[in-house]
Amino acid sequence: GYHKILEENRKLYNQVQDLKGNIRVYCRVRPFLPGQSNLSTVGHIDDGSITILTPPKYGKEGHKSFTFNKVFGPFATQEEVFSDTQPLIRSVLDGYNVCIFAYGQTGAGKTYTMSGPKVLTEQSFGVNYRALNDLFHISKERKDTFCYEISVQMIEIYNEQVRDLLASDDIRNSSQTGFAVPDANSVPVTSTTEVIELMDIGQKNRAVSATSMNDRSSRSHSCLTIHVQGRELASGVVVRGCMHLVDLAGSERVNKSEVKGDRLKEAQHINKSLAALGDVISALAQKSSHIPYRNSKLTQLLQDSLGGQAKTLMFVHISPEVDAVSETLSTLKFAERVAMVELGAAQVNKDNGEVKELRLQVASLKAALAKKE
Ligand code: ADP
Ligand code: MG
Repeated sequence: GYHKILEENRKLYNQVQDLKGNIRVYCRVRPFLPGQSNLSTVGHIDDGSITILTPPKYGKEGHKSFTFNKVFGPFATQEEVFSDTQPLIRSVLDGYNVCIFAYGQTGAGKTYTMSGPKVLTEQSFGVNYRALNDLFHISKERKDTFCYEISVQMIEIYNEQVRDLLASDDIRNSSQTGFAVPDANSVPVTSTTEVIELMDIGQKNRAVSATSMNDRSSRSHSCLTIHVQGRELASGVVVRGCMHLVDLAGSERVNKSEVKGDRLKEAQHINKSLAALGDVISALAQKSSHIPYRNSKLTQLLQDSLGGQAKTLMFVHISPEVDAVSETLSTLKFAERVAMVELGAAQVNKDNGEVKELRLQVASLKAALAKKE
């Protein structure tokens, strides 16, 4: 029955993943915003690489190229960006865990990629909405063979403290059983509209806690987690998968001589947790025997969804402005460290895979010829 197909799918998927690797890094360049002078540090862009030009004023003049699984230029649409993310969504319904991160300095477009602009239109929906739409859509397609239950959690990590953004009396039907964030509400949902409402509540709760700071969102990580439980109707077999959509705190480095007190503490927590995330992903990419999950709250919480069979996608965002060039370079260096080993290995594997496939083709053609003779 369906279970068998699922098993086959899983095998096929694993083969594909063996070729591609479980960690992917996509780079996205934000367009210039209205009113900005459009002197760009972004030189050449193609499907998988980007060149940054460094003007003389910022030290040595020259250019530096970086390679990623995919590079989206300033004109890439939300739809295009999502279409390369879509296969991950299907795998959640097949029982895999997935993490999608948005990384980059404040203003580089993280929230735009994940949620969209402040005023949303259907075209500008971000990865969050599109992912949920797909989840509901595919689960409906499978309704004759599978019964899916989908629920969401929304948390914020600020100064290494976790806050439940859906801990509100307005939210009905919440349950608190056995999830990645044990103490956060997990709210059952049946449509994208419901999720959008919850996300609004979450956003409002986030804003409420912004005390003296004007932009809390750039100094905390926010994580939307979607839990999926599917029961195969015929066999009663249950599969569970989850997806974490994480809008990370701004990666900009803070000048220690300029900030003190709370701001300094925030900056230190952010640096530490982003570095810890980078360490975990790069240890996974290198297939290291020790993965340092325990060095930050974020990596602790996501431990079950980082590594093993789980899939990780990191969107790194950069701003095109000349003023941002040093942050841009440091963002790309971080991303390269995260991606490099895996990319190298993936390319080798891909070649091997293609060669293998061609060999098989040659063999079957030879066999066909032999039969004819
Ligand atoms: P971050 O979350 O990294 O701080 P935002 O997502 O808030 O950055 O983006 C900063 C500004 O740039 C916002 O006004 C946003 O709407 C705009 N922006 C970001 N990325 C894009 C894009 N790809 N296309 C158009 N506008 C964008
Ligand atoms: Mg943001």
